[in-house]
Parts: sequence; C-alpha cells; structure tokens
Amino acid sequence: MLSPTGTRDRFSKRAALVTQKSPVPDLGDTLTFVQSLQSSLELEVILPLLLERLCLFIPGSRMSYRHESLGIELEFGGPKLKHQFYYQLKTEHQELGEIRISNSKRLNEGHLKAIEENLSHLLFPLRNAMLYQEAIRSARVDALTGVGNRFAFSRSFEREHALAMRHQNDLSLLVLDVDYFKSINDRYGHLVGDQVLREVAQAIQNAMRQTDMVFRYGGEEFTAILTKTDAEGAAVIADRVRKHVADLYIRHEGQRIAVTISIGASSSSDSVDGRAMFEQADNNLYRAKRNGRNQVCSG
Ligand code: GH3
Ligand code: MG
Ligand code: MG
Repeated sequence: MLSPTGTRDRFSKRAALVTQKSPVPDLGDTLTFVQSLQSSLELEVILPLLLERLCLFIPGSRMSYRHESLGIELEFGGPKLKHQFYYQLKTEHQELGEIRISNSKRLNEGHLKAIEENLSHLLFPLRNAMLYQEAIRSARVDALTGVGNRFAFSRSFEREHALAMRHQNDLSLLVLDVDYFKSINDRYGHLVGDQVLREVAQAIQNAMRQTDMVFRYGGEEFTAILTKTDAEGAAVIADRVRKHVADLYIRHEGQRIAVTISIGASSSSDSVDGRAMFEQADNNLYRAKRNGRNQVCSG
C-alpha cells in the first residue's frame, strides 16, 4: 500500500483526534486536484500543484522536494520557514523522496491531517514521474561506468556548442582513449577490464571541475566537454586528468594494473564548427598515440 512512511501510525492517531476537534477545511474539488496531478510527468509541474493546493488552507506555505539517489532538489515558494514538517514518501518497492513543508505559523492538527491527505493523492503521480525520470536518466547514462553515454554526449555537445557560440564563450573538447586496453583484457580478462574502465571513468571525473561533463563515447574511449575553457585551460585540465589516471592504483590478485590514457584536445578558438572541433580532437588523439601514448596533444 502507498503511504508516506514514518507518518502512518501518527496518521491514524491524529485522524481520530482531528475528527473530534479540528475538522479539515473544505478544500473544494478533490477530484479536479487529483486529475491535475495526473496531467504531467514533470516534477516541476506536479509539485507546484500540491503547494498551490496546500496554500488554500495554509497560506504562505513553502515546500521543498529532495530525492537523494536521483540527485533531485527542488524548492517552491521561497526558502524554508520556521515551522517545518517533513515526510518520507515511499511505496513498498520504491523511494519517492522527501517533502518538507514549512510555514511561519505553527500548524494545527487539522492542517497536518489535510497535508497528509493531499500527500496521499500525490503518491501515484509521483511514482509515475519517478519512473519517467529514471527512464530518461537510463537512456542517457552508460550502464557500466555511470557517466553519460554517446547519446547524451551528442545532445550535450550540440547544446553547449550553440550556447558558447551565442554568448561568445570559450568551449573545449577532450577525446580520451585508454592505452593498450586490449592487452589489459587479454591479460586479466574482460571482467577486470570492465573494472578498469569504471575506475578510469571515475578518475577522469574526479580530476575535472564540477561543471565539466564526462561521457563514455564507446568501448574504452571517453569524451569531456569543458565549458568556458580556452585551449590553454583545456591543456592544463587534460594533463591533470592524464596524470590522475596514470597515478591510479588498481590492484588485481596482489598486482598493480598500470593504466594510462592518451588525450586529444580542441577548442572553439581553433575551429568554430562543432563537427570540426570533434575531428580536430580526434586527430590530436591519434597524434598522441603515435607520439608514444600517455600524453596530451592539442592545437
Ligand atoms: P590503443 O592504445 O591504440 O588505444 O590500443 P587499445 O588496445 O586500447 O585499442 P584497441 O582498439 O585495439 O582495443 C580496444 C579494446 O577495448 C578492444 C575491446 O575488446 C575492448 N573493449 C571495448 N569495450 C569494452 C568493454 O565494455 N569492456 C571491456 N572489458 N573491454 C572492452
Ligand atoms: Mg585504446
Ligand atoms: Mg579506442
């Protein structure tokens, strides 16, 4: 059964109390509200509808929503106020996140009962929105490494390139490839090879800034979009990433697996066209391979 967990017992106790002392305010057409919640799969649309509804009987309410594992944090109606209530929402099989409702005034039992009643209408629409978010996310995430996949890269690069051109910002691109990865697979097996790919992806991400985006382009090849970064900055970041991977200490049966990557870089100052930027970074990668690997080539 769907119910906000951790509040269920309190629900029934409170419900008994409420019917005697503080009836829930007349909230108009519940059916219309429930239907409106089903009109969208976007959290940004559904959650404000709940807040709007709550404000009918608790004016000035604020609401925030948080889903830790999906990395979602949303605020509605302004920053949190003094008196807060929070609800962990979940179904038997699924975490649906946490809702915090706050107000400058202390809420009474009638208010709480009405909040909980309205939250129960939210559960199914929220679950559907969550499934939708997960489907969108998994269509864009590489299952092995957890970084963006090739589809996500194409979309993101298209968008970031257009934005950089419009605002005349610098944009750089890195294409990164694991050196002699085939021999790692041959020597240690594919499962260890997979583990190496995961650790390399993580290391690339750790060496970048929060705003940089990392993707697995395919096989043992990665790409990174560096926004607001010129050619000089890209070369510095690329070399930091290269060193970070070379310093990785990946152990297998007491032995260290040495891993290095080669990197090709390009920048919007060299080629304005997005496709040409990619080709240039790719050509630079091959130059880095030819020159002996474990190095960065740009320009
Ligand atoms: P180079 O330094 O020239 O890049 O040599 P390389 O051995 O890394 O390049 P090559 O293209 O010859 O080999 C890439 C290997 O990556 C071959 C392929 O089997 C392996 N590979 C691709 N995808 C995966 C994967 O998901 N998991 C594992 N374990 N191996 C993969
Ligand atoms: Mg390779
Ligand atoms: Mg390759």
